[in-house]
Amino acid sequence: MQLQDILYSQGFGTRRICAGLIQQGYVQVDLGEGLVTCDDALEDIDEHEGLPYSVQGVLWPYHAKAYVLLHKPAGYECSHKPSAWPSLYTLLPPALRQRPQKSAVQGVQAVGRLDQDTTGMLVLTDDGPLIHRMSSPRHHVPKVYEVTTDDPLDDKQVQRLLDGVVLDDSPKPVKAAACVAVAEHHLRLTLTEGKYHQVKRMLAAVGNKVVGLHRSQIGAMPLPADLAPGQWRWISEDELKLLA
Ligand code: URA
Repeated sequence: MQLQDILYSQGFGTRRICAGLIQQGYVQVDLGEGLVTCDDALEDIDEHEGLPYSVQGVLWPYHAKAYVLLHKPAGYECSHKPSAWPSLYTLLPPALRQRPQKSAVQGVQAVGRLDQDTTGMLVLTDDGPLIHRMSSPRHHVPKVYEVTTDDPLDDKQVQRLLDGVVLDDSPKPVKAAACVAVAEHHLRLTLTEGKYHQVKRMLAAVGNKVVGLHRSQIGAMPLPADLAPGQWRWISEDELKLLA
Protein backbone atom coordinates (compact mmCIF):
# COMPACT_ATOMS: atom_id res chain seq x y z
CA MET A 1 0.00 0.00 0.00
CA GLN A 2 1.24 3.51 -0.68
CA LEU A 3 2.45 5.27 2.46
CA GLN A 4 -0.16 8.02 2.06
CA ASP A 5 -2.89 5.34 1.95
CA ILE A 6 -1.53 3.69 5.08
CA LEU A 7 -1.79 6.97 6.96
CA TYR A 8 -5.22 7.65 5.48
CA SER A 9 -6.50 4.21 6.59
CA GLN A 10 -5.27 4.90 10.14
CA GLY A 11 -7.20 8.14 10.51
CA PHE A 12 -4.61 10.85 9.84
CA GLY A 13 -6.90 12.84 7.55
CA THR A 14 -7.52 13.05 3.82
CA ARG A 15 -4.96 11.60 1.40
CA ARG A 16 -3.83 15.14 0.65
CA ILE A 17 -3.21 15.87 4.35
CA CYS A 18 -1.41 12.52 4.75
CA ALA A 19 0.77 13.23 1.70
CA GLY A 20 1.62 16.63 3.21
CA LEU A 21 2.66 15.09 6.54
CA ILE A 22 4.92 12.65 4.70
CA GLN A 23 6.45 15.23 2.35
CA GLN A 24 7.21 17.54 5.29
CA GLY A 25 9.24 14.77 6.93
CA TYR A 26 6.87 14.09 9.82
CA VAL A 27 6.57 10.35 9.11
CA GLN A 28 9.05 7.64 10.01
CA VAL A 29 8.68 3.96 9.11
CA ASP A 30 10.48 0.91 10.48
CA LEU A 31 11.20 -1.44 7.60
CA GLY A 32 13.45 -3.64 9.71
CA GLU A 33 16.27 -1.24 10.54
CA GLY A 34 14.59 1.08 13.02
CA LEU A 35 12.47 4.17 12.35
CA VAL A 36 13.66 6.07 9.28
CA THR A 37 12.07 9.19 7.81
CA CYS A 38 10.24 8.48 4.56
CA ASP A 39 9.23 11.55 2.54
CA ASP A 40 7.82 9.78 -0.50
CA ALA A 41 4.04 9.69 -0.09
CA LEU A 42 3.70 7.15 -2.93
CA GLU A 43 6.29 4.67 -1.63
CA ASP A 44 4.85 1.16 -1.65
CA ILE A 45 5.09 -0.40 1.79
CA ASP A 46 4.00 -3.80 3.13
CA GLU A 47 1.32 -2.75 5.62
CA HIS A 48 1.46 -5.83 7.84
CA GLU A 49 -0.31 -5.83 11.20
CA GLY A 50 1.82 -4.02 13.77
CA LEU A 51 4.11 -2.32 11.19
CA PRO A 52 5.85 0.31 13.32
CA TYR A 53 5.72 3.86 12.05
CA SER A 54 5.49 7.24 13.71
CA VAL A 55 3.74 10.49 12.85
CA GLN A 56 5.14 13.67 14.35
CA GLY A 57 7.14 11.58 16.80
CA VAL A 58 4.23 9.46 18.06
CA LEU A 59 4.59 5.72 17.47
CA TRP A 60 1.44 4.35 15.86
CA PRO A 61 1.63 0.67 14.77
CA TYR A 62 -0.48 -0.23 11.73
CA HIS A 63 -3.77 -1.99 12.52
CA ALA A 64 -6.09 -3.06 9.71
CA LYS A 65 -8.91 -2.84 12.25
CA ALA A 66 -8.81 -0.92 15.49
CA TYR A 67 -9.57 -2.72 18.76
CA VAL A 68 -9.01 -0.59 21.82
CA LEU A 69 -9.71 -0.80 25.49
CA LEU A 70 -10.65 2.28 27.48
CA HIS A 71 -10.91 2.67 31.24
CA LYS A 72 -13.96 4.91 31.34
CA PRO A 73 -13.89 7.51 34.09
CA ALA A 74 -17.08 8.93 35.59
CA GLY A 75 -18.44 12.10 34.02
CA TYR A 76 -18.39 11.09 30.33
CA GLU A 77 -21.27 10.10 28.06
CA CYS A 78 -20.90 7.21 25.61
CA SER A 79 -22.25 9.30 22.76
CA HIS A 80 -20.94 11.37 19.87
CA LYS A 81 -23.63 13.93 20.67
CA PRO A 82 -23.69 14.10 24.46
CA SER A 83 -26.47 15.99 26.17
CA ALA A 84 -24.86 17.17 29.42
CA TRP A 85 -21.38 15.69 29.90
CA PRO A 86 -18.33 15.52 27.63
CA SER A 87 -18.25 12.77 25.04
CA LEU A 88 -16.21 9.71 25.89
CA TYR A 89 -14.71 9.93 22.40
CA THR A 90 -12.81 13.08 23.41
CA LEU A 91 -10.58 10.78 25.52
CA LEU A 92 -9.28 9.13 22.33
CA PRO A 93 -6.68 10.55 19.93
CA PRO A 94 -8.15 12.13 16.77
CA ALA A 95 -6.77 9.35 14.53
CA LEU A 96 -8.96 6.74 16.26
CA ARG A 97 -12.01 8.96 15.82
CA GLN A 98 -11.20 9.78 12.19
CA ARG A 99 -10.49 6.32 10.78
CA PRO A 100 -12.31 6.11 7.44
CA GLN A 101 -15.85 4.89 7.58
CA LYS A 102 -16.26 1.10 7.36
CA SER A 103 -19.75 0.65 8.78
CA ALA A 104 -22.45 3.19 9.54
CA VAL A 105 -20.28 5.62 11.51
CA GLN A 106 -16.75 6.94 11.17
CA GLY A 107 -13.99 5.91 13.58
CA VAL A 108 -14.10 3.48 16.47
CA GLN A 109 -17.40 2.89 18.25
CA ALA A 110 -18.07 1.75 21.80
CA VAL A 111 -19.41 -1.79 22.07
CA GLY A 112 -22.44 -1.13 24.26
CA ARG A 113 -22.79 1.87 26.51
CA LEU A 114 -22.00 2.69 30.09
CA ASP A 115 -23.92 5.37 31.97
CA GLN A 116 -22.30 8.74 32.56
CA ASP A 117 -21.57 7.87 36.19
CA THR A 118 -20.39 4.28 35.52
CA THR A 119 -16.66 3.61 35.41
CA GLY A 120 -14.64 0.72 34.00
CA MET A 121 -14.01 -1.39 30.98
CA LEU A 122 -15.15 -0.37 27.54
CA VAL A 123 -14.17 -1.88 24.19
CA LEU A 124 -14.16 0.34 21.10
CA THR A 125 -13.65 -0.84 17.54
CA ASP A 126 -14.36 -0.16 13.88
CA ASP A 127 -15.06 -3.88 13.34
CA GLY A 128 -18.83 -3.84 12.67
CA PRO A 129 -19.36 -7.64 12.89
CA LEU A 130 -17.56 -7.73 16.27
CA ILE A 131 -19.76 -4.93 17.62
CA HIS A 132 -22.77 -6.92 16.50
CA ARG A 133 -21.50 -10.17 18.00
CA MET A 134 -20.54 -8.68 21.34
CA SER A 135 -23.76 -6.70 21.69
CA SER A 136 -26.12 -9.46 20.63
CA PRO A 137 -28.16 -10.87 23.54
CA ARG A 138 -27.92 -14.26 21.78
CA HIS A 139 -24.16 -14.21 22.08
CA HIS A 140 -24.22 -14.06 25.91
CA VAL A 141 -20.88 -12.34 26.48
CA PRO A 142 -20.69 -12.10 30.30
CA LYS A 143 -19.95 -8.70 31.80
CA VAL A 144 -18.95 -8.35 35.42
CA TYR A 145 -20.02 -5.31 37.44
CA GLU A 146 -18.81 -4.20 40.85
CA VAL A 147 -21.87 -2.62 42.42
CA THR A 148 -21.82 -0.39 45.48
CA THR A 149 -25.23 -0.36 47.11
CA ASP A 150 -26.91 2.21 49.33
CA ASP A 151 -28.47 -0.35 51.68
CA PRO A 152 -26.72 -3.42 53.07
CA LEU A 153 -27.15 -6.49 50.89
CA ASP A 154 -28.89 -9.58 52.19
CA ASP A 155 -29.21 -13.20 51.00
CA LYS A 156 -32.79 -12.59 49.87
CA GLN A 157 -31.75 -9.82 47.46
CA VAL A 158 -28.93 -11.94 46.06
CA GLN A 159 -31.28 -14.92 45.56
CA ARG A 160 -33.91 -12.74 43.85
CA LEU A 161 -31.29 -11.41 41.41
CA LEU A 162 -30.26 -14.98 40.60
CA ASP A 163 -33.89 -16.16 40.24
CA GLY A 164 -34.79 -13.21 38.01
CA VAL A 165 -36.60 -9.90 38.41
CA VAL A 166 -39.20 -8.37 36.10
CA LEU A 167 -38.22 -5.07 34.44
CA ASP A 168 -40.79 -2.86 32.76
CA ASP A 169 -39.43 -3.40 29.21
CA SER A 170 -39.20 -7.19 29.37
CA PRO A 171 -42.02 -9.64 30.03
CA LYS A 172 -39.49 -12.36 30.89
CA PRO A 173 -37.69 -12.10 34.24
CA VAL A 174 -34.10 -10.91 33.86
CA LYS A 175 -31.59 -13.07 35.73
CA ALA A 176 -28.05 -12.47 36.90
CA ALA A 177 -25.67 -15.09 35.49
CA ALA A 178 -23.76 -14.83 38.78
CA CYS A 179 -24.21 -12.71 41.87
CA VAL A 180 -22.07 -12.60 45.01
CA ALA A 181 -22.19 -10.19 47.92
CA VAL A 182 -18.46 -9.65 48.50
CA ALA A 183 -19.07 -7.13 51.30
CA GLU A 184 -22.06 -5.59 53.03
CA HIS A 185 -22.42 -2.91 50.34
CA HIS A 186 -20.48 -4.55 47.47
CA LEU A 187 -22.14 -6.89 45.01
CA ARG A 188 -20.31 -8.63 42.15
CA LEU A 189 -22.92 -9.10 39.45
CA THR A 190 -22.46 -10.90 36.12
CA LEU A 191 -24.91 -10.17 33.30
CA THR A 192 -25.09 -11.62 29.82
CA GLU A 193 -27.52 -9.03 28.45
CA GLY A 194 -27.16 -5.27 28.15
CA LYS A 195 -30.53 -3.66 28.73
CA TYR A 196 -30.80 0.06 29.39
CA HIS A 197 -29.70 0.86 32.99
CA GLN A 198 -29.96 -2.87 33.65
CA VAL A 199 -27.91 -3.07 36.85
CA LYS A 200 -29.56 -0.03 38.40
CA ARG A 201 -33.03 -1.28 37.51
CA MET A 202 -32.35 -4.80 38.77
CA LEU A 203 -31.11 -3.49 42.11
CA ALA A 204 -34.13 -1.17 42.37
CA ALA A 205 -36.39 -4.18 41.68
CA VAL A 206 -35.03 -5.93 44.79
CA GLY A 207 -35.47 -2.82 46.93
CA ASN A 208 -31.89 -1.53 46.95
CA LYS A 209 -30.11 1.35 45.17
CA VAL A 210 -26.88 1.58 43.19
CA VAL A 211 -24.56 4.33 44.43
CA GLY A 212 -21.47 3.21 42.50
CA LEU A 213 -21.02 1.07 39.40
CA HIS A 214 -17.82 -0.20 37.81
CA ARG A 215 -17.43 -2.74 34.98
CA SER A 216 -14.46 -4.94 35.88
CA GLN A 217 -14.55 -7.65 33.20
CA ILE A 218 -15.87 -8.46 29.72
CA GLY A 219 -15.91 -12.09 28.61
CA ALA A 220 -12.83 -13.71 30.14
CA MET A 221 -10.78 -10.50 30.18
CA PRO A 222 -10.52 -8.38 33.33
CA LEU A 223 -9.81 -4.65 33.12
CA PRO A 224 -6.00 -4.46 33.26
CA ALA A 225 -4.87 -3.08 36.62
CA ASP A 226 -2.30 -0.80 34.96
CA LEU A 227 -4.87 1.00 32.79
CA ALA A 228 -5.77 4.13 34.78
CA PRO A 229 -9.15 5.89 34.43
CA GLY A 230 -9.20 7.90 31.20
CA GLN A 231 -6.41 5.84 29.58
CA TRP A 232 -6.76 3.67 26.48
CA ARG A 233 -4.59 1.05 24.81
CA TRP A 234 -4.64 -1.36 21.88
CA ILE A 235 -6.11 -4.83 22.47
CA SER A 236 -3.80 -7.70 21.47
CA GLU A 237 -4.94 -10.61 19.30
CA ASP A 238 -4.85 -12.98 22.29
CA GLU A 239 -6.92 -10.60 24.40
CA LEU A 240 -9.45 -10.29 21.60
CA LYS A 241 -10.12 -14.02 21.83
CA LEU A 242 -10.95 -13.60 25.53
CA LEU A 243 -13.48 -10.89 24.80
CA ALA A 244 -15.91 -12.33 22.28
N1 URA B 1 -26.18 -1.16 33.98
C1 URA B 1 -26.45 0.10 34.40
O1 URA B 1 -27.43 0.35 35.08
N2 URA B 1 -25.60 1.08 33.99
C2 URA B 1 -24.49 0.86 33.26
O2 URA B 1 -23.75 1.80 32.96
C3 URA B 1 -24.22 -0.45 32.86
C4 URA B 1 -25.07 -1.45 33.23
